[in-house]
Amino acid sequence: MSIKQALKHPADRSVCHIRYGKYQNREKQEGKNMTTKHMSFEQGPIRPPNEAKSLLLRFTRNCPWNQCLFCPVYKGKKFSLRTVEEIRDDIQAAHDIAEDIKALSFRLGCGGMIDNEVISAVFNDPSLTDSYRSVAFWLYYGTGACFLQDADNLIMKTRDMVEAIRFLKEKFPELARITTYSRSRTVIRKSVESLRQIREAGLNRVHIGMESGYDPVLKFMKKGVTAAQHIEAGRKLIEAGMELSEYIMPGLGGRNMWREHAVETARVLNKINPHFIRLRSLRIPPRVPLYKKLQEGTFTMQTDDMTVEEIRVFIEHLDGITSTIVSDHIMNLLEDVHGKMPEDKERMLQVIDEYQNLSDLDRQIYRVGRRGGTYSSVRDMQRDPVTYQKIRHLVEKIKKEEGPDGLEAFIKELADKYV
Ligand code: SF4
Repeated sequence: MSIKQALKHPADRSVCHIRYGKYQNREKQEGKNMTTKHMSFEQGPIRPPNEAKSLLLRFTRNCPWNQCLFCPVYKGKKFSLRTVEEIRDDIQAAHDIAEDIKALSFRLGCGGMIDNEVISAVFNDPSLTDSYRSVAFWLYYGTGACFLQDADNLIMKTRDMVEAIRFLKEKFPELARITTYSRSRTVIRKSVESLRQIREAGLNRVHIGMESGYDPVLKFMKKGVTAAQHIEAGRKLIEAGMELSEYIMPGLGGRNMWREHAVETARVLNKINPHFIRLRSLRIPPRVPLYKKLQEGTFTMQTDDMTVEEIRVFIEHLDGITSTIVSDHIMNLLEDVHGKMPEDKERMLQVIDEYQNLSDLDRQIYRVGRRGGTYSSVRDMQRDPVTYQKIRHLVEKIKKEEGPDGLEAFIKELADKYV
């Protein structure tokens, strides 16, 4: 039975039909056509990796800055605020869809649980919008988390943000975590009191794209913010009671500034002590402005091995903090460089040692396996000797036929397919 068929079942005309009736009447009075409009809601293009199972709702569109040289996400797209009414309509739609899916679960005899059968019914009904699929997955995973898109939501007026988040909590009281992206430049324009109001409304975590704590790198990359402003913003968010997640970008200093980038980024983070430090290594697809600098030779990319050394220097310089380090981005070579400071610092450095102590050939095998999506840890190579031999054979074949440059080009192609 499809979700539409289930909802048509005459013996089971549920609350959701009655509610829709009321909703439609209200819409009619307001002269709006709600037939399909309210069965979908808007979503933006990205979310942090750890928000993959969160409900995604769009509070603003695109990025108000949009100048960072390495960033492909919103180029060519104009930033816009959304009205509180638009956001409320989207939240209402997400809520109605969630209720419909739960009603479907009851009709299928699943007792309100969103299990494989319900997911299958939703995904096999082509008449349903992507919003249904998105909400169904969120209910299936049961994370109780919501991520507010797009790049810089704290640019909203405090009272609008508070109103929108309160409405979100009213419609989804089960939400335990509401998070968003924002820019340090935007955060420092808000008072701690304003941030606290937003926190009290329900926003409990902010992801900041710090990228670097070294001013020449920030300037070169047109990040539009200084290291001092990153520190000020981070401290303000923590003072307001938010959880803070700082993204940093290994590789962003290139070959000229890699060491200063690593050391100064650690210094800035030592002054903030964020809850999370997340690594997202640089890749340069042709569609970003940095690609032109790469072609001109005014920026030279770090190799994988040099980036690993850079992360070593970065971790060595972290001091006096209690942050959790996370390496959950597919761009990162070593996913198991993660842990809590300070107790896991030595273990994280050991993970780097394990990679650096491999033979040249094994490092190449690992890189091919990692960039091809097979490995996430150096230890994976020992766990599966058959796969190891297959990759080894491939690496040796490419080197024999195309030389070391051919192998590097092959690995680059594998890695770039994720950007
Ligand atoms: S602020 Fe963030 S989203 Fe905006 S251009 Fe820079 S990296 Fe991209």
